[in-house]
Amino acid sequence: MREANLIDGAWVAADSGRTLEVLDPATDALIGSVPAMGGAETRRAVDAAAGAFPAWAARPVEARAATLHAISARMAANRSSLAALMTAEQGKPLAEAEAEVDYARSFFEVAASAVEMLEDEHPEVPGKAIRVHRRPVGVAVAITPWNFPIAMLAKKVAPALAVGCTQIVKPAEQTPLSAIAFAELAVEAGVPAGVLNLVTGEPAPIAEVLLEDARVRKLSFTGSTEVGRLLMREGATNLLRLSLELGGHAPMLVFEDADVESAVRIAMAAKYRNGGQTCICPNRFIVHESIHDSFVAALAASSAALVSGIGTQPGVTLGPMIDDAAIEKVEEHVADAIRLGATLVTGGGRRRVAGAADRFHEPTVLAGCTGEMRCWREETFGPVCPVRMFRDDEEAIELANDSEYGLAAYAITSEPARIERLGAVLRAGVIGINDPGPAVAAVPFGGIRHSGFGREGGRWGLEEYLEIVTVSQAGG
Ligand code: NAD
Repeated sequence: MREANLIDGAWVAADSGRTLEVLDPATDALIGSVPAMGGAETRRAVDAAAGAFPAWAARPVEARAATLHAISARMAANRSSLAALMTAEQGKPLAEAEAEVDYARSFFEVAASAVEMLEDEHPEVPGKAIRVHRRPVGVAVAITPWNFPIAMLAKKVAPALAVGCTQIVKPAEQTPLSAIAFAELAVEAGVPAGVLNLVTGEPAPIAEVLLEDARVRKLSFTGSTEVGRLLMREGATNLLRLSLELGGHAPMLVFEDADVESAVRIAMAAKYRNGGQTCICPNRFIVHESIHDSFVAALAASSAALVSGIGTQPGVTLGPMIDDAAIEKVEEHVADAIRLGATLVTGGGRRRVAGAADRFHEPTVLAGCTGEMRCWREETFGPVCPVRMFRDDEEAIELANDSEYGLAAYAITSEPARIERLGAVLRAGVIGINDPGPAVAAVPFGGIRHSGFGREGGRWGLEEYLEIVTVSQAGG
């Protein structure tokens, strides 16, 4: 396992020699340490990316696509070791980590195909010959969160490199080792020096340089709305192009025609991925009164049956929270809901796991939730299912849309007219109908309102790294 950063094709330490420790959230074991980079090293990464840009952008599209396929192949060959490292530093069950490696790979495959299909456009204008073409924006930056350490990186690296941008990635402090392992595979796959650069460390000094340097032309950020806002403010100086994939607070609407058993299966799959630490997890269950009680009982039974533990242990389906602050926030949200009158149907506290840190929260179902509860207004980012009842579609839609966020929304129903309407009125960038996994690499993914803007996936993901140029020739 490497513990260095990648700048201009070389594996380097911080100038100061300082490092940050990486701990296993399930056990508190020290699993590695990574360079704590500062401004000077970050500037060298920008130098490298800027220097490598012209040659990378000039490479034939087929050659860049071939490199992306090679990255995907290296990831496939190293699936088990990447997944084991991810579970060690992030905590998710091993099967989920393996699935994340596959998901991440798919972004390279999709970007490689999509970039080969990009074509110039020629709108008809009398008396002129017009060519609209796209070119890469230049040096791009990716700042990623800890909850999906490889997938979040892949969603940004794949489109940037596909279109000819060069890049600097800064992974989250909690999960830098997966990013380093990924960068190592990218180098093995033939990514030239300077095209992909990786810096780890505390975010502020790194971000300061990245936001000040006018050679950086694009920032793609996934993380909290609060940090997204800050980056937008600071990126204004250079009119930085931004993609912001921010917090979510997804509703799941369960209509009266839903089959309770399959509704619960969908709810479980969507809710408990990564222990509820997923931006598109349903955080508000809005259930028709006619099936409310049976849905709540079945959801509680399935939730209670999840097996908490260290992600590498067989049969484990629920890992730890990422850190103490995360589990404390979950506890606060549960206590607040109960104080304000919610009914605790199952869970509600910590779960002791033998030989592990005290960082596991029980899967928790809260019925009778109301709008003033924190779990109904804020992202809990944990294994908590707050439930409310509704009487008709109008009320369900109103409840669903009563949030400043707008990343994902889910509905369980089979009525075509209702499905059509939900697609038009639910305020979210991604809507899953009877679908617990609406985020796949071939389709656009991203939020609206306080969940940010910009899209990842398919050709829409490429557009974020391209600028459109119109060449207008008179008399053509
Ligand atoms: P975070 O905003 O604290 O951190 C995300 C990244 O930003 C990390 O790399 C961190 O080091 C960096 N960062 C923190 N402060 C910074 C600063 N001042 N300047 C520059 N970079 C800074 O978020 P988190 O706690 O790691 O992740 C959880 C959040 O991410 C949740 O809100 C979740 O919903 C969101 N998320 C969104 C999506 C999406 O696609 N919309 C996906 C995953 C997670």
